[in-house]
Amino acid sequence: MKIKTKLTLGVGLLFFLIVLLVALGVKQIHSLADDTENILTANYNSMDYSRNMLKELDKIETEQQSPTQFFEYLKLQNRNITEIGEKELTRNLTEDVVLFQKDPANPKNSIQIRKDLNDIMKLNMDAINRKSIVASKTADSGIFWISITGTLCFVIAFTLLINLPGNIANPIKALTESIRQIAAKNYSQRVHFEGHDEFGDLATSFNTMAEKLQEYSNSNLEKLMMEKKRIETLINNLHDPVIGLDAQHTILFANEEALKISGLQAEAVIGKSAQEIAISNDLIRMLLQYISEDSTLKNKEPLKIYADRKESYFEKQLVPILITPTGETEKKAVGAFIILRNITAYKELDTAKTNFIAMVSHEFKTPIASMKMSLQLLENESIGMLNEEQKQLVSGIKDDTKRLLRTTGELLNITQVETGNTQLKIESCPIHTIVENAVEATHLLAAQKAISLEVVLPENLPEIHADLEKTTWIVSNLISNAIRYSYENSSILVKAVLQNDTVQISVQDNGMGIAPQYKNKIFDKYFRIPGSEKEGTGLGLAISKEFIEAQGGSITVASELGLGSTFIITLKV
Ligand code: ADP
Repeated sequence: MKIKTKLTLGVGLLFFLIVLLVALGVKQIHSLADDTENILTANYNSMDYSRNMLKELDKIETEQQSPTQFFEYLKLQNRNITEIGEKELTRNLTEDVVLFQKDPANPKNSIQIRKDLNDIMKLNMDAINRKSIVASKTADSGIFWISITGTLCFVIAFTLLINLPGNIANPIKALTESIRQIAAKNYSQRVHFEGHDEFGDLATSFNTMAEKLQEYSNSNLEKLMMEKKRIETLINNLHDPVIGLDAQHTILFANEEALKISGLQAEAVIGKSAQEIAISNDLIRMLLQYISEDSTLKNKEPLKIYADRKESYFEKQLVPILITPTGETEKKAVGAFIILRNITAYKELDTAKTNFIAMVSHEFKTPIASMKMSLQLLENESIGMLNEEQKQLVSGIKDDTKRLLRTTGELLNITQVETGNTQLKIESCPIHTIVENAVEATHLLAAQKAISLEVVLPENLPEIHADLEKTTWIVSNLISNAIRYSYENSSILVKAVLQNDTVQISVQDNGMGIAPQYKNKIFDKYFRIPGSEKEGTGLGLAISKEFIEAQGGSITVASELGLGSTFIITLKV
């Protein structure tokens, strides 16, 4: 039965019984009132008239009072005849009253009247008794019916009270719980409501929905598992080691290459905290440290690991996994990948290249030195006079030899840097010596372009702890760059200042300047600003940076395109 029908029937029946109870009560009270009224008007009045007539008769006999009042009561009695036989008794009374009027002295007449009145009173008394019994019966039947109806009402109301709230609330409760389970992705949840009411229909719809969700979820799960396997296979087949971590640094996966170079077993790693593993594994410890470093300060040096029975080099790359959770707009970090790019092959090629450059530039040094000597002999004209044309040729060859020497020197320096063989000879050096030597080495170049070299060196500058030869080379390289990238007839300022416990040597030119996007790149090896027409190797600044940093100093540049550049080196006192 439908809940609506159940409710309508239950409440309707209750309503009907209440109405019945009220009607019955009213009816019973009404018939009781009728009975009482009947007794009052029909019998009690007749008794009252008779009693009054007896009183009046006494007064007539003893006090000779007029019978007017008596006749009044007699008249009322005549009008109030309600019982069978009362009419005859009243008629007898009237006749006896006539006789009494005719002969009042005759005691028989008054006795007769008294007897008549007593008969009327008795008749009414009997009627009152009879009617009381009837009224009592009416009351009994009223109580009976009201009790029956009341009990019925109670039973129905009690049944409704016990069953109705549960009937409605229990299925809602069960449904709420099931919806909660579905929300928690427990799609196997079903509801079972017996009966064909609205809840039955609801259960059928709910179960259909849950079934569809389960089907959908299963198909998705299968798809996801497939995708997971595909990605796992892909990561496992990568030649580069890859390690995946969640936000709490629990290792989610490590591909075969990663396991190989770390010397770990999958079972001992997957699902374990990286911190825990780092206690006994150097590679994981290094990677954890790399993750925790500030992104701008991250150590970019390749990792050197003994793998594949040789020294191998790996470039670290941290890829944060950022996702936007469903219903949210902000991206959230849920973990990271660490990819170790195996650069051993490039490193080997690079080493071969460095060795080759070192060997070639070393081999060049002796022939260049003998060329210089030969040129010196020619220039001195110790082996014969030269005509003007020959002199010009000698001068040209001399310039080229100088350039060749410079390039060979730079190449040798860079090979030292690349192989990590930079030999420093740190000593106390006077700034004046460094700057003056550097200016001395470049003043001819400046003169060729009619560039004036201005030197500002305060007196009493302290000595610095540096490699004299290399620092002089750096300053002369900066001045030579300033000359090469400046216009003719311009000026260059070489300055040294004391700043706290450091000395800053700056080389300022009014040349072509450097575009902002190249400011950091010019310190990279072999980098030359595109379109640069001047000859060069792109090594000078890279070597300068390496040399200066090896001495614990730094090199910076401030430049404005078209206006000039200022290179500043800072060294500790
Ligand atoms: P190069 O041998 O090419 O001069 P460097 O390493 O000394 O190599 O310089 C790298 C690049 O930086 C140069 O090619 C040049 O474009 C730029 N550069 C260096 N110094 C200056 C300067 N003072 N003014 C403008 N550009 C400069």
